[in-house]
Amino acid sequence: MKNYLSMIRRKTKNVAAISTLRRGKLIILLCVFNANFLISAEEIVNPEETEIWGPIPSIIDTSSQSVPSDAIILFDGESLHHWEKIDGSEALWLIEENAFTIKPGTGDIVTKKKFSDLQLHIEWRTPIPEDAIGQNRGNSGIFLQRRYELQVLDSFNNETYVNGQAGSIYKQYIPLVNASRGPGIWQTYDIVFKAPTFNMDKSLKTNASMTVLHNGVLIQNNSILRGSTTYIGLPEYEFHEKDSILLQDHGSKISFRNVWAREL
Ligand code: MG
Repeated sequence: MKNYLSMIRRKTKNVAAISTLRRGKLIILLCVFNANFLISAEEIVNPEETEIWGPIPSIIDTSSQSVPSDAIILFDGESLHHWEKIDGSEALWLIEENAFTIKPGTGDIVTKKKFSDLQLHIEWRTPIPEDAIGQNRGNSGIFLQRRYELQVLDSFNNETYVNGQAGSIYKQYIPLVNASRGPGIWQTYDIVFKAPTFNMDKSLKTNASMTVLHNGVLIQNNSILRGSTTYIGLPEYEFHEKDSILLQDHGSKISFRNVWAREL
């Protein structure tokens, strides 16, 4: 606050000096409008003038080395009470050994909670044996706000279209590298998702974006989404509000564990 006050004092002084030199009202007005530009980098002489002391970031506890204290735990290893089927009925995926596994044919599941901007950590494992190829091998997907899919696939020695391999933002962005581990091995995604925003008339204001680390490696670097994920055709935006995280049942027995989110 002290620094801001000193900057305001400087600005006021500058405006006053100029207005004394040139007395026309219009010029004074222009000087007031331009007051922000009157302080140049050279005028900052003390290191304290560029220090900011607030707001102070909240303190969170990261001592557990897995889940930060301000995270919302979406799977605690024991129940799927944070999840449900799309029709609102009970999620039927199987829980064992602190993980849950897709029960093929029972359908996608969604979080009961709806999110906007978020950080999401999720661990996943594709099944052994590798009983299929291409898009049918270990396919699932993490859909932010039910619409924007980060692909889950067994992409370890498994050829497919590259904007549909693991770590792709499906049919929109190829991952920067293929950081996939083999089937049966746990993998991680750390996602930073910025939700799209919309104008009052429900037209698009700002695009969604996604940054993703796969097994700790950057694979999507602030990728600007072109719209909702589509299987056929081109992505487009549709107006929506906060919405759930959706996990896709694509017929493969993918397992998930240690799922947590932080609202941003
Ligand atoms: Mg998928």
